[in-house]
Amino acid sequence: MENERYYGIDIGGTTVKIGLVENGAVLDKWSVPTDTSDNGRNILPDIVRSLPGPAAGAALAVPGAVLPDGTVNKCVNLGWGVCRPTEEFTTLTGIPCRVLNDANAAALAEQRLGGGKGFESILFVALGTGVGAGVILDGAVRVGARGSAGEIGHLCIDPEDQAAACTCGHHGCLETYASATGISRLAALAGYPGLTCKQIVDAAAAGDEALEAVVDRACDVLGRGIAGACAIIDPEAVVLGGGVAQAGDYFRLKVQDAFDRYAFHACLGTEIRLATLGSDAGMLGAALYAMG
Ligand SMILES: [Zn+2]
Repeated sequence: MENERYYGIDIGGTTVKIGLVENGAVLDKWSVPTDTSDNGRNILPDIVRSLPGPAAGAALAVPGAVLPDGTVNKCVNLGWGVCRPTEEFTTLTGIPCRVLNDANAAALAEQRLGGGKGFESILFVALGTGVGAGVILDGAVRVGARGSAGEIGHLCIDPEDQAAACTCGHHGCLETYASATGISRLAALAGYPGLTCKQIVDAAAAGDEALEAVVDRACDVLGRGIAGACAIIDPEAVVLGGGVAQAGDYFRLKVQDAFDRYAFHACLGTEIRLATLGSDAGMLGAALYAMG
């Protein structure tokens, strides 16, 4: 029945992942390339052309800050400035549409169906090219007044670190140490240039002491940032997602150790867990968000 079906649409910088979801089950999923030419004006029409039919609702997960009223405050990776894509989507399709940040969408999916299942309140941290995050409190996505709640990637760790230039324009943000890009950067500084984050973590896990020191530094920064976030929002659990978290328990336990070193004593016991939904999390979370 179309009145119980929802589209979850995760718009990434190279690919759009789309799922048709009914009662929490994915009936079908597919992807279309993201055409970022011409300020990304073809992205929504390309998505709409791929949709097989009507639905009760849809939600867009986008790589940028989303204000509580649905205004998107720039998606540099898509070529979008400040815009309201839900209105264009509904004009093109007649389908009601909501929009949220992609890490917030993944957070919602992980809390309902993945690594945070069973908890009402989680902090989700997505470790990829950057560090995204999402806050779920009492089962609902919390975006904050400006769509930036939970953005621990831009916690200031060391503003004097001129080598740690962040995409946001500041220096020494958490993501310049703890993202995949940041870990590769730390390895290069330690004399190991040109390695991917996976190569670094794999070598560290296999016993390379110099690279293990690099991973320890990244996890120390991350655990300290998470401890600070937990002192503010006090979630039941923290869920690590994104490509870096695929390093599994080796990485998770180092973050847990660092968290335990830095956390306010009343926050000790907060579990650091791994995400389980992989790259479908954004699409699934968007579909859940579309359901309201
Ligand atoms: Zn930053």
